[in-house]
Amino acid sequence: MVAPCEPPSAAPEVPGVKPHPLPKTVAPLPDELLSGWLSRLAAANYCDDAELLAHLRIDTAHGTALDFNVDAAAAAKIANAARVNPDVVRSLTFPAMTPREASLTAQMPFQHCMQCAREGLSLRHWRRAWAFDCQVCGTRLVQTLGKLREEQISGKLIYRARRGAEMLECAARSRGPKQLRRAMRAVTFAMSLKTFRGDPSFAVQNPRSEVRLFCLAAIAAARSHPLARLRTHSQYMTIAARAIADKKTFGQRS
Ligand SMILES: [Zn+2]
Repeated sequence: MVAPCEPPSAAPEVPGVKPHPLPKTVAPLPDELLSGWLSRLAAANYCDDAELLAHLRIDTAHGTALDFNVDAAAAAKIANAARVNPDVVRSLTFPAMTPREASLTAQMPFQHCMQCAREGLSLRHWRRAWAFDCQVCGTRLVQTLGKLREEQISGKLIYRARRGAEMLECAARSRGPKQLRRAMRAVTFAMSLKTFRGDPSFAVQNPRSEVRLFCLAAIAAARSHPLARLRTHSQYMTIAARAIADKKTFGQRS
């Protein structure tokens, strides 16, 4: 319903004018991300994400833009359309994070659980650089891009990368910056071994499994071979190349 005094051109911005509730709504699931829930809402109402956001008069084409910050007006529009409380909408975004956690939380999806993604889910913990297995079904998360096929990834590398991921989580959540600095040093070394470029914190949230797994495994390898005890860089290079991954899978730079 539109107020008679409302100028038509200003309709989207007039406070209090909300889009009609959607014909169908779906309940958000535990740990679901706002963008993922919006996708499920769109699918339930036979439209795509961009069409849904346009209908809601939210000025973005991608729901992922709302995952870290949804303003009160947008939360109210979504809540009204989906017939839920605005607090529910806000609860689907990331809570306030420490700078360390934020640096290890991806702005865009870089991995997912095949099992849960098939059901249309997109979960919050998948965005953490340290997330390795799906917390809902236990399946190992897979990167969204990658040259390697799943069967090409050695069990040894997965084992080490999983341990590295656990260490990364401890480091991200620890009080001091020391642990994370150590982990990132190992990642930087791993990157130099494979000539990966960029920021080490992005390497561990890389959508390519060949980058991410190798760098996570390096964190675990550095724990068993502390850098401080090694005299030279080349000594580290030799040990790291052996320790991080299977030569067969990744080859070795001489
Ligand atoms: Zn899952």
